[in-house]
Amino acid sequence: MRPSRVFEWNNWVPKKVAIVAWRSEMERLPTKCALSIRNIPVQNQRCMLCSEYDETSEHLFVSCHFAQTIWQNIAGWCRMPPIIAFDVKDLLELHGFSTGSKKKKKAINAIVLVTFGASEG
Ligand SMILES: [Zn+2]
Repeated sequence: MRPSRVFEWNNWVPKKVAIVAWRSEMERLPTKCALSIRNIPVQNQRCMLCSEYDETSEHLFVSCHFAQTIWQNIAGWCRMPPIIAFDVKDLLELHGFSTGSKKKKKAINAIVLVTFGASEG
């Protein structure tokens, strides 16, 4: 939990989409680990994509190799250098470190938020 950071909303992305990233940063998504902490029975806590590691938001969006492939593809499409992220915060702050116009940074942030949002549904 990082209460020090203020979530940056982006008016190019609907709030209901961006909220997934916001909840993910706080580990407030119903991942298997989160459910099990709340005593909701889950078959196992393994990641539904790789079944190798525990399913936390951090794993699902950052360290899972499926997630990493998605981020690297996005970097390629956006002609950005490879994305190096150690936690959800790194992804949400990615646009701040990219080069280019304010508009490009906002677009990168929008793409990141939409990618998180795409995990729902
Ligand atoms: Zn995984």
